[in-house]
Amino acid sequence: AKQQHRGSSEYFSPAMGTDARERFKLLKGLRAGFEENRLFVVYQPQVDLLSGKPIGAEALLRWRTEDGKFVPPDQFIPLAEKSGLIISIGEFVLRTACHQLKHMIELGYADFRMCVNVSLAQFRHPDFMTVVNDAMRDIGVAGRNLELEITESMAMEDTELVMHILANIKKLGITVAIDDFGTGFSSLSHLRQLDVDRLKIDRAFVREAQTSTAGSTIAQMVINLGRGLGLTVIAEGIETEEQRSLLLDLGCHEGQGYLFARPMPADQLENWMSQTKAGA
Ligand code: C2E
Ligand code: CA
Ligand code: CA
Ligand code: CA
Repeated sequence: AKQQHRGSSEYFSPAMGTDARERFKLLKGLRAGFEENRLFVVYQPQVDLLSGKPIGAEALLRWRTEDGKFVPPDQFIPLAEKSGLIISIGEFVLRTACHQLKHMIELGYADFRMCVNVSLAQFRHPDFMTVVNDAMRDIGVAGRNLELEITESMAMEDTELVMHILANIKKLGITVAIDDFGTGFSSLSHLRQLDVDRLKIDRAFVREAQTSTAGSTIAQMVINLGRGLGLTVIAEGIETEEQRSLLLDLGCHEGQGYLFARPMPADQLENWMSQTKAGA
C-alpha cells in the first residue's frame, strides 16, 4: 500500500550495547544530524475503531544518518534526553508538527488532532510553556487541535510540579494523553488528581489481550479505569482485525497501529487522509 513506510525491521541496529564510546559517537552523530537537517518527523494516523475514520496523527521523530540508515528513536532519544539535546530537538518536533497541523486544517480537517511526544526534561524545563505558546502563536494553530503525550512514569514523578504544568497546558486548550499506560504503577489516587484527557494503552497489552486471558483482563482493567475516571482510551500497536474488534468489545474506541497505517512522511499523510475519509 501507498502509506507503507519504514518498518522497524529496516532499522539500523548496531550492536552497540551500553558501551560509553559508542554512545558518545552516536551522540556526536545525532548533534551533526540535527544541525544538518537529517532529523525529520513522520506521522502515524489515529482512527475511530468503529468507523475507521481518521481522528488525527501522532508525530514521531526519525533520524536518517549520512549513509542512509535509520537509527530507531528508542536508541537516540534516551541519549538526547541525557545530553539535554532533547530540548532543542523537542522544540523542532513540536514546531514541525504544528506546521503540519496547520496544513491539515487548511485542507479542511478542522478537528484534526496532532499528538506530540514530550520528554520529561522538556516538560520540566522552565521555558516549556513559552516554547509551546510561541509555537502555537507563530504558526497559528489552536490548542484544541494539539495533544501532548507524556509517559505514565513522567506523570507520576513529582506530582505537584506535574499538576502545575498540566494546569498551564490546559489553559491553552491543549489536551494531554498518558502514554504507555499500564507499564508503570500509577496509583488511582494520583491519577485522579491529574487533569489529563486520555489514556494510551501500551501496545504490549494490545498484543497480550489477544493471546492470553490474563492479557485481556489487564486490557479490560485499564480501559475500565480510564472510563471510570471519565477519560477516553486509545490503544496503540493494533496490528490485526482481531485486536481491533476485541478492543472495541472491551470499550476502547480509538486506536493506531499498522492495521490502519504505519508512520508516514508528511506528504503521504494528506493522501492517506483523503483516501480514508469514509473508513477502513
Ligand atoms: P511511542 O510514543 O510509544 O510511539 C509508538 C511506537 O510504536 C512508534 O515507534 C511507532 O512506530 C510504533 N508502532 C505504531 N504502530 C505499531 C504497530 O502496529 N506495531 C508495532 N510493533 N509498533 C507500532 P517509534 O516511532 O520507533 O518510536 C519509539 C518511541 O520513541 C516512541 O514510543 C516514543 O517513546 C519515542 N519517540 C518517538 N518520537 C519522539 C519524539 O518526537 N519525542 C520524544 N520525546 N519521544 C519520541
Ligand atoms: Ca507516544
Ligand atoms: Ca506509547
Ligand atoms: Ca512505547
